[in-house]
Amino acid sequence: IPIERFRNFCIVAHVDHGKSTLSDRLLELTGTIQPGGNKQILDKLDVERERGITVKAQTCSMIYKYKGEDYLLHLVDTPGHVDFRAETTFLSRLSLALLLVDASQGVQAQTVANFYLAFSQGLQLVPVINKVDLPSADAPRALEQMKNTFELDPEKAVLVSAKTGLNVEAVLPKVIEHIPAPTGDHNAPLRLLLVDSWYDNYKGVILLVRIFQGQVRAGDHVSSFATGLKYIVGEVGIMYPDQTPQKVLRAGQVGYIFFNPGMKRSKEAKVGDTYTTVGFEKLVEPLPGFEEPKSMVFVAAFPVDQSGYEHLEDSINQIVLNDRSVTIQKESSEALGAGWRLGFLGTLHCSVFEDRLRQEHGASIIITPPSVPFKVIWRDGREQTITNPNDFPDGDVLHQHVAELQEPYVGATITLPEEYIGKVIELCEANRGVQKELSYFTASQVILKYDLPLAHLVDDFFGKLKGATKGYASLDYEEAAWQRSAIVKLQLLVNKQPVDAVARVVHTSQAERIGRAWVAKFKAHVDRQMFEVVIQAAAGRRIVARETIKPFRKDVLQKLHASDVSRRRKLLEKQKEGRKKLRAVGNIAIDHTAFQGFLAK
Ligand code: GDP
Ligand code: MG
Repeated sequence: IPIERFRNFCIVAHVDHGKSTLSDRLLELTGTIQPGGNKQILDKLDVERERGITVKAQTCSMIYKYKGEDYLLHLVDTPGHVDFRAETTFLSRLSLALLLVDASQGVQAQTVANFYLAFSQGLQLVPVINKVDLPSADAPRALEQMKNTFELDPEKAVLVSAKTGLNVEAVLPKVIEHIPAPTGDHNAPLRLLLVDSWYDNYKGVILLVRIFQGQVRAGDHVSSFATGLKYIVGEVGIMYPDQTPQKVLRAGQVGYIFFNPGMKRSKEAKVGDTYTTVGFEKLVEPLPGFEEPKSMVFVAAFPVDQSGYEHLEDSINQIVLNDRSVTIQKESSEALGAGWRLGFLGTLHCSVFEDRLRQEHGASIIITPPSVPFKVIWRDGREQTITNPNDFPDGDVLHQHVAELQEPYVGATITLPEEYIGKVIELCEANRGVQKELSYFTASQVILKYDLPLAHLVDDFFGKLKGATKGYASLDYEEAAWQRSAIVKLQLLVNKQPVDAVARVVHTSQAERIGRAWVAKFKAHVDRQMFEVVIQAAAGRRIVARETIKPFRKDVLQKLHASDVSRRRKLLEKQKEGRKKLRAVGNIAIDHTAFQGFLAK
């Protein structure tokens, strides 16, 4: 099939609007998969299937006969959620997106966000209205929204039911008619873009690639612009729907390659990297790379029992093999022992990872609540991004050398039915939000834009938003910007000793509220001891909350007769001594289960 008959496209949609279902239908229609079986072929990871979200970009090729000629189509499934925006940079290399909207729900937050993203990349957009089979479907309204919000021509739109298959055959002709074929000379030197990668135990790292010019086949020697490393190509092929080897991949194609010997470390596979044939490095311009994704949400993870350390480390490494965007640092805590600090792109990314760890380790793992990084601007002009609250500058250093503290904000876009507008504004204000925009995109649907501190977003803001709107609001957010902020380190003190694993950096206005909740919650999880335990929360040097656990007075006297005075005195003295001893040695002899209970959500 010549390049003129290649088409690369993607479907963008709000979550649950039917992207995966439509993909399945298109693959069935082209005979790529059998009807009935293999549902949601593009959602490969189990977690994705469970949560119904596509986490990693996937691709699938299909061959479609149109007006008597075969076309090679590459459908790229882009992750719907903003945390995985790095994976969607791929979009910029395509030329068409199907903008899918659920006819019963209409335009939602991610529809808006995806529209702007696709639009800014210069993509052609074809509206597809899905779920027209539903009784609550209102296709004319959805079309009207597409026209008013995005200026998309309703004439171009296709109305389908991905579930029943109704009118799905009208989709691919649109793809062919509305987008130009990719360009690229297959006789020029190789210019290959690394789009995604995943790890295979036998083959090593497998690269999903898009060929911009030239061609690549098994046995070729190629080199990476980003790392300078050289490899010998072991196999090339297309995803059809699984890895299907080909003799060659040519300009315009999307496919996979792996090396022989295999690439061992996922970190070598940098998304956005350009590869060329060894010896041609001077003749080829690397494709514009993009920034490495930055971790914005952090948790610390510890095995409950240190003997589980190695097993847990293996599991973490295993997941990270397939997810370059997770950062890992070793961390050790006095209270919880050796563990790791893990960094994620966003809250969803973080909770997907947590779920996987919990599935494997259940109760034998302690995970701290998510925290966000902060930035220190020093008086001498240096800027430092800090991800571990325990590195927060202390007392004197803070006062003498720090010019400014900053915390990350996100630009949140919330769509909601008008009747909830008061509640949602209240919620945003309570979370230190700054309103940027309020607009109606239909008579009853509102778009609210707020700058929100990321720290509040990770604190189950979405859950609260759903609660305030009976589940009708949707939320999307864009990358963080740093803003000056009055933040402070909040610590939990047990008998004056800070519990390092629990420290958090919070806004001054929140310190007291969180501090009080902390001590109350921690108290509930600590057993009475033989000595007094004082639990405090300190914001910087200021104590903002305090609770005391009264010592437990063993009732040694009960069994004795009142007359046995000398024995009685002796016993009381013995008990006093014992208490002294415990106080001295057992200052924070607090069970792991207390921390676990405390840190559980
Ligand atoms: P995605 O999140 O965009 O990938 O959405 P899915 O393809 O996973 O679909 C979300 C839900 O909508 C699933 O329960 C589908 O069965 C359902 N769904 C998808 N398309 C249709 C449709 O055309 N009609 C109806 N009634 N349900 C659909
Ligand atoms: Mg899906």
